[in-house]
Amino acid sequence: MEMDNRVEFLSEEGWRQWHLELLQSTLNRVYERVPFYRKLMDEKGLRPEDITSLEDLRRLPFTTREHLEENYPYDLFAVPLRDIVRLHTFPGISAPIVKGFTARDLLAIRRLTARFLTTCGVTSEDIVQICLDPGMSIWIEELKEGAEALGALVIPPDPQSTSHRLRIMRDFRTSVLITTPSYALYLAEMMVEEGFTPRSLRLAVLVGEGLETSTRLRLEKQLGIDTRLGYGITEAIGPGMGYECEERKGYHLAADYFLPEIIDPETGEPLPPGQKGELVITTLAVKANPLIRFRTGDLTHFLEGNCRCGRTTPRIGQIEGQIDGRVSVRGIKISLRYIEALLKEAYGHVPLYLLRIKRSRFLEKLELWLAINEQLFEPSILGLHRLAEIFEQKFEETFGLPCRVKLVEEDHLREVAKGQRILFD
Ligand SMILES: [Zn+2]
Repeated sequence: MEMDNRVEFLSEEGWRQWHLELLQSTLNRVYERVPFYRKLMDEKGLRPEDITSLEDLRRLPFTTREHLEENYPYDLFAVPLRDIVRLHTFPGISAPIVKGFTARDLLAIRRLTARFLTTCGVTSEDIVQICLDPGMSIWIEELKEGAEALGALVIPPDPQSTSHRLRIMRDFRTSVLITTPSYALYLAEMMVEEGFTPRSLRLAVLVGEGLETSTRLRLEKQLGIDTRLGYGITEAIGPGMGYECEERKGYHLAADYFLPEIIDPETGEPLPPGQKGELVITTLAVKANPLIRFRTGDLTHFLEGNCRCGRTTPRIGQIEGQIDGRVSVRGIKISLRYIEALLKEAYGHVPLYLLRIKRSRFLEKLELWLAINEQLFEPSILGLHRLAEIFEQKFEETFGLPCRVKLVEEDHLREVAKGQRILFD
Protein backbone atom coordinates (compact mmCIF):
# COMPACT_ATOMS: atom_id res chain seq x y z
CA MET A 1 0.00 0.00 0.00
CA GLU A 2 1.24 3.43 -0.92
CA MET A 3 1.87 5.49 2.16
CA ASP A 4 2.97 9.06 2.46
CA ASN A 5 4.14 9.80 5.95
CA ARG A 6 5.67 13.21 5.18
CA VAL A 7 2.60 14.89 6.58
CA GLU A 8 3.73 13.93 10.08
CA PHE A 9 6.71 16.24 9.65
CA LEU A 10 4.84 19.42 8.57
CA SER A 11 5.89 22.81 9.90
CA GLU A 12 3.76 24.56 12.50
CA GLU A 13 2.41 26.88 9.83
CA GLY A 14 1.77 23.91 7.56
CA TRP A 15 -0.30 22.25 10.24
CA ARG A 16 -2.30 25.40 10.93
CA GLN A 17 -3.22 25.77 7.28
CA TRP A 18 -4.01 22.08 6.90
CA HIS A 19 -6.19 22.04 10.01
CA LEU A 20 -8.08 25.22 9.26
CA GLU A 21 -8.89 24.16 5.70
CA LEU A 22 -10.09 20.71 6.74
CA LEU A 23 -11.99 22.06 9.72
CA GLN A 24 -13.84 24.54 7.54
CA SER A 25 -14.76 21.94 4.95
CA THR A 26 -15.89 19.51 7.69
CA LEU A 27 -18.05 22.24 9.24
CA ASN A 28 -19.61 23.13 5.92
CA ARG A 29 -20.47 19.50 5.32
CA VAL A 30 -21.96 18.79 8.74
CA TYR A 31 -23.91 22.05 8.76
CA GLU A 32 -25.42 21.22 5.40
CA ARG A 33 -25.96 17.50 5.86
CA VAL A 34 -26.32 16.63 9.54
CA PRO A 35 -29.43 18.26 11.08
CA PHE A 36 -28.12 17.48 14.56
CA TYR A 37 -25.03 19.64 14.04
CA ARG A 38 -26.96 22.36 12.25
CA LYS A 39 -29.28 22.59 15.24
CA LEU A 40 -26.43 22.69 17.78
CA MET A 41 -24.67 25.42 15.81
CA ASP A 42 -27.87 27.38 15.25
CA GLU A 43 -28.50 27.31 18.98
CA LYS A 44 -25.12 28.98 19.48
CA GLY A 45 -25.83 31.42 16.68
CA LEU A 46 -22.90 30.01 14.70
CA ARG A 47 -22.50 29.40 10.99
CA PRO A 48 -19.53 27.58 9.43
CA GLU A 49 -18.15 30.84 8.00
CA ASP A 50 -17.88 32.27 11.54
CA ILE A 51 -15.02 29.86 12.22
CA THR A 52 -12.11 31.72 10.68
CA SER A 53 -9.22 30.53 12.83
CA LEU A 54 -8.29 27.46 14.87
CA GLU A 55 -8.84 29.52 18.03
CA ASP A 56 -12.52 29.65 17.04
CA LEU A 57 -12.76 25.89 17.55
CA ARG A 58 -13.62 26.53 21.20
CA ARG A 59 -16.83 28.26 20.13
CA LEU A 60 -18.20 25.04 18.64
CA PRO A 61 -20.49 22.72 20.61
CA PHE A 62 -19.34 19.37 22.02
CA THR A 63 -20.56 15.94 20.91
CA THR A 64 -21.04 13.29 23.61
CA ARG A 65 -21.66 9.54 23.64
CA GLU A 66 -25.26 10.29 24.64
CA HIS A 67 -25.62 12.27 21.41
CA LEU A 68 -24.41 9.26 19.43
CA GLU A 69 -27.15 7.14 21.03
CA GLU A 70 -29.85 9.76 20.68
CA ASN A 71 -29.22 10.04 16.98
CA TYR A 72 -29.46 6.31 16.30
CA PRO A 73 -29.84 4.98 13.63
CA TYR A 74 -29.15 7.41 10.75
CA ASP A 75 -29.13 10.93 12.06
CA LEU A 76 -25.39 11.48 12.32
CA PHE A 77 -24.55 10.32 8.81
CA ALA A 78 -23.21 13.03 6.54
CA VAL A 79 -23.69 10.89 3.41
CA PRO A 80 -26.71 9.00 2.04
CA LEU A 81 -26.99 5.40 3.19
CA ARG A 82 -26.19 4.13 -0.31
CA ASP A 83 -22.68 5.62 -0.02
CA ILE A 84 -21.99 3.69 3.18
CA VAL A 85 -20.29 0.37 2.56
CA ARG A 86 -19.77 -0.84 6.12
CA LEU A 87 -21.55 -0.38 9.43
CA HIS A 88 -20.10 -1.16 12.82
CA THR A 89 -22.50 -1.27 15.73
CA PHE A 90 -21.73 -1.44 19.40
CA PRO A 91 -23.76 -1.27 22.58
CA GLY A 92 -25.07 2.02 23.92
CA ILE A 93 -27.43 2.57 26.82
CA SER A 94 -30.63 3.96 25.33
CA ALA A 95 -29.81 2.78 21.79
CA PRO A 96 -26.88 1.16 19.97
CA ILE A 97 -24.08 3.32 18.64
CA VAL A 98 -23.44 2.96 14.93
CA LYS A 99 -20.49 3.99 12.88
CA GLY A 100 -20.71 4.03 9.11
CA PHE A 101 -17.84 4.04 6.63
CA THR A 102 -17.74 5.04 3.00
CA ALA A 103 -15.27 3.19 0.77
CA ARG A 104 -12.92 6.17 1.18
CA ASP A 105 -13.27 6.05 4.96
CA LEU A 106 -12.26 2.40 4.99
CA LEU A 107 -9.25 3.12 2.84
CA ALA A 108 -8.25 6.02 5.11
CA ILE A 109 -8.52 3.87 8.25
CA ARG A 110 -6.48 1.15 6.60
CA ARG A 111 -3.78 3.69 5.69
CA LEU A 112 -3.78 5.11 9.20
CA THR A 113 -3.57 1.69 10.85
CA ALA A 114 -0.78 0.67 8.49
CA ARG A 115 1.11 3.87 9.37
CA PHE A 116 0.64 3.19 13.06
CA LEU A 117 2.06 -0.31 12.69
CA THR A 118 4.93 0.89 10.46
CA THR A 119 5.88 3.51 13.05
CA CYS A 120 5.91 0.71 15.63
CA GLY A 121 8.39 -1.12 13.42
CA VAL A 122 6.16 -3.71 11.71
CA THR A 123 7.22 -4.60 8.15
CA SER A 124 6.09 -6.83 5.29
CA GLU A 125 8.54 -9.46 6.57
CA ASP A 126 6.62 -9.88 9.81
CA ILE A 127 4.28 -12.58 11.02
CA VAL A 128 1.72 -10.73 13.07
CA GLN A 129 -0.43 -12.57 15.58
CA ILE A 130 -3.42 -10.70 17.01
CA CYS A 131 -4.65 -11.80 20.46
CA LEU A 132 -7.61 -9.62 21.49
CA ASP A 133 -10.91 -10.41 23.19
CA PRO A 134 -14.07 -10.70 21.02
CA GLY A 135 -15.34 -7.47 22.66
CA MET A 136 -12.68 -5.69 20.59
CA SER A 137 -13.88 -7.14 17.28
CA ILE A 138 -13.90 -3.77 15.48
CA TRP A 139 -10.28 -3.21 16.36
CA ILE A 140 -9.35 -6.74 15.38
CA GLU A 141 -10.79 -6.07 11.93
CA GLU A 142 -8.97 -2.77 11.51
CA LEU A 143 -5.64 -4.04 12.84
CA LYS A 144 -5.84 -7.08 10.61
CA GLU A 145 -6.49 -4.95 7.53
CA GLY A 146 -3.77 -2.47 8.48
CA ALA A 147 -1.18 -5.23 8.88
CA GLU A 148 -2.31 -6.94 5.67
CA ALA A 149 -2.00 -3.62 3.84
CA LEU A 150 1.67 -3.60 4.88
CA GLY A 151 2.10 -7.01 3.35
CA ALA A 152 2.66 -8.79 6.67
CA LEU A 153 1.31 -12.27 7.29
CA VAL A 154 -1.54 -11.88 9.76
CA ILE A 155 -2.95 -14.45 12.19
CA PRO A 156 -6.24 -13.06 13.56
CA PRO A 157 -7.45 -14.21 16.98
CA ASP A 158 -9.17 -17.53 17.38
CA PRO A 159 -11.48 -18.64 20.15
CA GLN A 160 -8.95 -21.21 21.35
CA SER A 161 -7.01 -21.53 24.57
CA THR A 162 -3.80 -19.75 25.45
CA SER A 163 -1.82 -23.00 24.99
CA HIS A 164 -3.16 -23.23 21.46
CA ARG A 165 -2.13 -19.65 20.77
CA LEU A 166 1.37 -20.36 22.06
CA ARG A 167 1.60 -23.38 19.83
CA ILE A 168 0.64 -21.30 16.79
CA MET A 169 3.19 -18.72 17.87
CA ARG A 170 5.92 -21.35 17.99
CA ASP A 171 4.98 -23.25 14.83
CA PHE A 172 4.48 -20.17 12.65
CA ARG A 173 7.31 -18.18 14.22
CA THR A 174 5.26 -15.13 15.13
CA SER A 175 7.47 -12.05 15.16
CA VAL A 176 4.93 -9.40 16.22
CA LEU A 177 2.22 -9.79 18.78
CA ILE A 178 -0.70 -7.35 18.90
CA THR A 179 -2.58 -7.54 22.17
CA THR A 180 -3.50 -5.68 25.35
CA PRO A 181 -0.82 -5.10 28.00
CA SER A 182 -2.64 -7.35 30.48
CA TYR A 183 -2.89 -10.24 28.03
CA ALA A 184 0.79 -9.83 27.10
CA LEU A 185 1.72 -10.16 30.77
CA TYR A 186 -0.49 -13.20 31.10
CA LEU A 187 1.05 -14.79 28.00
CA ALA A 188 4.53 -14.15 29.37
CA GLU A 189 3.57 -16.04 32.55
CA MET A 190 2.13 -18.90 30.54
CA MET A 191 5.29 -19.12 28.45
CA VAL A 192 7.37 -19.58 31.59
CA GLU A 193 4.94 -22.21 32.83
CA GLU A 194 5.02 -24.14 29.57
CA GLY A 195 8.78 -23.76 29.22
CA PHE A 196 8.32 -21.99 25.89
CA THR A 197 10.87 -19.45 24.68
CA PRO A 198 9.43 -17.22 21.95
CA ARG A 199 12.69 -16.82 20.00
CA SER A 200 11.02 -15.46 16.88
CA LEU A 201 9.02 -12.80 18.77
CA ARG A 202 10.67 -9.38 18.61
CA LEU A 203 7.91 -6.84 19.17
CA ALA A 204 4.59 -6.46 20.98
CA VAL A 205 2.20 -3.72 19.89
CA LEU A 206 0.03 -3.05 22.92
CA VAL A 207 -3.38 -1.45 22.58
CA GLY A 208 -6.50 -0.80 24.62
CA GLU A 209 -4.81 0.03 27.92
CA GLY A 210 -1.79 1.85 29.29
CA LEU A 211 1.16 0.21 30.98
CA GLU A 212 3.39 1.27 33.87
CA THR A 213 7.04 1.73 32.93
CA SER A 214 8.38 -0.77 35.47
CA THR A 215 5.94 -3.49 34.36
CA ARG A 216 6.73 -2.72 30.75
CA LEU A 217 10.46 -3.11 31.27
CA ARG A 218 9.91 -6.39 33.08
CA LEU A 219 7.77 -7.71 30.23
CA GLU A 220 10.39 -6.69 27.65
CA LYS A 221 13.15 -8.37 29.62
CA GLN A 222 11.15 -11.52 30.24
CA LEU A 223 10.32 -11.99 26.55
CA GLY A 224 13.42 -10.34 25.09
CA ILE A 225 11.29 -8.01 22.95
CA ASP A 226 10.57 -4.35 22.26
CA THR A 227 7.11 -2.93 22.98
CA ARG A 228 5.10 -0.05 21.55
CA LEU A 229 1.87 1.37 22.83
CA GLY A 230 -1.05 2.57 20.74
CA TYR A 231 -4.07 4.69 21.60
CA GLY A 232 -7.47 4.87 19.97
CA ILE A 233 -11.18 5.04 20.62
CA THR A 234 -13.78 2.98 18.83
CA GLU A 235 -16.43 5.70 18.52
CA ALA A 236 -14.13 7.99 16.61
CA ILE A 237 -11.49 6.47 14.38
CA GLY A 238 -10.28 3.27 16.02
CA PRO A 239 -6.73 2.04 16.69
CA GLY A 240 -3.93 4.11 15.29
CA MET A 241 -5.19 7.47 16.55
CA GLY A 242 -2.06 7.77 18.69
CA TYR A 243 1.15 5.78 18.73
CA GLU A 244 4.67 5.74 20.05
CA CYS A 245 7.64 6.35 17.79
CA GLU A 246 11.07 4.86 18.47
CA GLU A 247 11.64 7.49 21.20
CA ARG A 248 8.69 6.07 23.16
CA LYS A 249 7.86 9.46 24.67
CA GLY A 250 4.10 9.70 24.59
CA TYR A 251 1.59 9.04 21.82
CA HIS A 252 1.99 10.96 18.56
CA LEU A 253 -1.53 11.85 17.51
CA ALA A 254 -2.63 11.33 13.90
CA ALA A 255 -3.28 15.05 13.49
CA ASP A 256 -3.94 14.72 9.76
CA TYR A 257 -7.06 12.71 10.66
CA PHE A 258 -8.35 14.69 13.60
CA LEU A 259 -7.87 17.88 15.54
CA PRO A 260 -7.16 17.20 19.22
CA GLU A 261 -7.88 19.43 22.21
CA ILE A 262 -7.49 18.90 25.94
CA ILE A 263 -10.24 20.58 27.91
CA ASP A 264 -11.14 21.13 31.53
CA PRO A 265 -13.96 18.57 31.93
CA GLU A 266 -15.82 20.91 34.31
CA THR A 267 -15.70 24.18 32.40
CA GLY A 268 -15.14 22.90 28.86
CA GLU A 269 -12.29 25.41 28.39
CA PRO A 270 -9.19 24.27 26.43
CA LEU A 271 -6.09 23.65 28.57
CA PRO A 272 -2.43 24.37 27.70
CA PRO A 273 0.26 21.64 27.36
CA GLY A 274 1.17 19.97 30.63
CA GLN A 275 -2.25 20.35 32.21
CA LYS A 276 -4.37 17.27 32.66
CA GLY A 277 -7.84 17.28 31.15
CA GLU A 278 -10.19 15.43 28.82
CA LEU A 279 -9.15 14.65 25.27
CA VAL A 280 -11.61 16.04 22.72
CA ILE A 281 -11.33 15.33 19.02
CA THR A 282 -12.76 16.74 15.82
CA THR A 283 -12.45 14.42 12.84
CA LEU A 284 -10.99 15.98 9.68
CA ALA A 285 -10.92 13.21 7.13
CA VAL A 286 -14.04 11.19 7.93
CA LYS A 287 -16.82 11.21 5.32
CA ALA A 288 -19.68 9.10 6.71
CA ASN A 289 -19.67 9.97 10.42
CA PRO A 290 -17.76 13.18 11.08
CA LEU A 291 -17.58 14.20 14.74
CA ILE A 292 -17.24 17.74 16.03
CA ARG A 293 -15.49 18.13 19.39
CA PHE A 294 -16.24 14.60 20.52
CA ARG A 295 -15.60 14.15 24.23
CA THR A 296 -13.57 10.96 24.57
CA GLY A 297 -13.84 10.78 28.37
CA ASP A 298 -10.08 9.99 28.51
CA LEU A 299 -7.92 12.08 30.82
CA THR A 300 -4.43 12.97 29.66
CA HIS A 301 -2.22 15.96 28.87
CA PHE A 302 -0.36 17.37 25.88
CA LEU A 303 3.41 16.94 26.04
CA GLU A 304 5.47 20.05 25.49
CA GLY A 305 8.08 20.56 22.77
CA ASN A 306 8.87 18.53 19.69
CA CYS A 307 9.87 14.89 19.66
CA ARG A 308 13.43 13.91 18.77
CA CYS A 309 12.11 11.69 15.98
CA GLY A 310 11.27 14.84 14.00
CA ARG A 311 7.52 14.28 13.81
CA THR A 312 5.69 17.51 14.50
CA THR A 313 2.37 15.96 15.42
CA PRO A 314 1.04 16.78 18.91
CA ARG A 315 1.79 14.20 21.57
CA ILE A 316 -0.15 13.17 24.63
CA GLY A 317 1.03 11.36 27.75
CA GLN A 318 -0.45 8.17 29.15
CA ILE A 319 -4.19 7.97 29.71
CA GLU A 320 -4.53 8.82 33.38
CA GLY A 321 -8.09 7.67 33.86
CA GLN A 322 -11.56 8.33 32.56
CA ILE A 323 -14.30 10.70 33.55
CA ASP A 324 -17.85 9.58 34.33
CA GLY A 325 -16.94 6.40 36.20
CA ARG A 326 -15.68 4.53 33.17
CA VAL A 327 -13.07 1.83 33.51
CA SER A 328 -11.01 0.04 30.93
CA VAL A 329 -10.98 -3.73 31.44
CA ARG A 330 -8.90 -5.83 29.07
CA GLY A 331 -9.11 -3.02 26.52
CA ILE A 332 -12.89 -2.73 26.77
CA LYS A 333 -14.37 0.41 28.23
CA ILE A 334 -17.16 -0.15 30.70
CA SER A 335 -19.13 2.69 32.23
CA LEU A 336 -21.06 2.57 35.45
CA ARG A 337 -23.88 4.33 33.63
CA TYR A 338 -24.06 1.30 31.38
CA ILE A 339 -23.91 -1.19 34.23
CA GLU A 340 -26.78 0.64 35.91
CA ALA A 341 -28.85 0.49 32.72
CA LEU A 342 -28.23 -3.27 32.50
CA LEU A 343 -29.18 -3.71 36.16
CA LYS A 344 -32.40 -1.83 35.57
CA GLU A 345 -33.14 -3.99 32.58
CA ALA A 346 -32.43 -7.16 34.57
CA TYR A 347 -34.16 -6.32 37.85
CA GLY A 348 -36.43 -3.36 37.15
CA HIS A 349 -34.37 -1.15 39.47
CA VAL A 350 -30.74 -0.43 40.30
CA PRO A 351 -29.80 -2.31 43.48
CA LEU A 352 -26.91 -1.19 45.65
CA TYR A 353 -23.83 -2.52 43.87
CA LEU A 354 -20.06 -2.64 43.87
CA LEU A 355 -17.97 -3.47 40.83
CA ARG A 356 -14.81 -5.28 41.82
CA ILE A 357 -11.96 -5.56 39.36
CA LYS A 358 -9.66 -8.34 40.40
CA ARG A 359 -6.33 -9.21 38.91
CA SER A 360 -5.58 -12.85 38.64
CA ARG A 361 -2.28 -13.63 36.93
CA PHE A 362 -2.42 -10.26 35.13
CA LEU A 363 -5.84 -10.88 33.66
CA GLU A 364 -8.58 -8.72 35.04
CA LYS A 365 -11.68 -10.46 36.25
CA LEU A 366 -14.93 -8.72 37.00
CA GLU A 367 -17.18 -9.35 39.91
CA LEU A 368 -20.35 -7.42 40.60
CA TRP A 369 -21.60 -7.43 44.16
CA LEU A 370 -25.31 -6.82 44.59
CA ALA A 371 -26.96 -6.15 47.93
CA ILE A 372 -29.74 -8.50 48.87
CA ASN A 373 -32.73 -6.71 50.33
CA GLU A 374 -36.50 -6.91 50.08
CA GLN A 375 -36.40 -5.63 46.48
CA LEU A 376 -33.78 -8.12 45.38
CA PHE A 377 -34.44 -11.40 47.06
CA GLU A 378 -35.18 -15.05 46.39
CA PRO A 379 -35.94 -17.51 49.16
CA SER A 380 -34.07 -20.47 47.63
CA ILE A 381 -30.43 -20.95 46.70
CA LEU A 382 -31.50 -21.93 43.20
CA GLY A 383 -33.56 -18.75 42.98
CA LEU A 384 -30.59 -16.63 44.02
CA HIS A 385 -28.43 -18.40 41.49
CA ARG A 386 -30.94 -17.63 38.74
CA LEU A 387 -31.10 -14.03 39.87
CA ALA A 388 -27.34 -13.73 39.42
CA GLU A 389 -27.45 -15.44 36.05
CA ILE A 390 -29.85 -12.89 34.56
CA PHE A 391 -27.28 -10.13 34.86
CA GLU A 392 -24.25 -12.30 34.05
CA GLN A 393 -25.82 -13.26 30.74
CA LYS A 394 -26.77 -9.71 29.81
CA PHE A 395 -23.30 -8.44 30.68
CA GLU A 396 -21.48 -11.01 28.62
CA GLU A 397 -23.76 -10.48 25.64
CA THR A 398 -23.07 -6.75 25.81
CA PHE A 399 -19.35 -6.55 26.51
CA GLY A 400 -18.08 -9.92 25.35
CA LEU A 401 -16.51 -10.38 28.79
CA PRO A 402 -17.70 -12.48 31.73
CA CYS A 403 -18.74 -10.79 34.97
CA ARG A 404 -19.60 -12.90 38.00
CA VAL A 405 -22.43 -11.70 40.20
CA LYS A 406 -22.19 -12.19 43.93
CA LEU A 407 -25.23 -11.51 46.09
CA VAL A 408 -24.16 -10.21 49.48
CA GLU A 409 -25.68 -8.72 52.62
CA GLU A 410 -26.25 -5.00 52.29
CA ASP A 411 -24.22 -4.13 55.42
CA HIS A 412 -21.28 -6.17 54.21
CA LEU A 413 -21.35 -4.48 50.81
CA ARG A 414 -21.40 -1.02 52.40
CA GLU A 415 -18.53 -1.95 54.68
CA VAL A 416 -16.33 -3.16 51.81
CA ALA A 417 -17.32 -0.43 49.34
CA LYS A 418 -16.76 2.48 51.74
CA GLY A 419 -18.90 4.72 49.56
CA GLN A 420 -17.21 3.68 46.29
CA ARG A 421 -18.80 1.93 43.34
CA ILE A 422 -15.63 0.51 41.84
CA LEU A 423 -12.92 -1.31 43.74
CA PHE A 424 -9.62 -2.52 42.31
CA ASP A 425 -8.31 -5.55 44.17
ZN1 LIG B 1 8.51 10.84 18.11
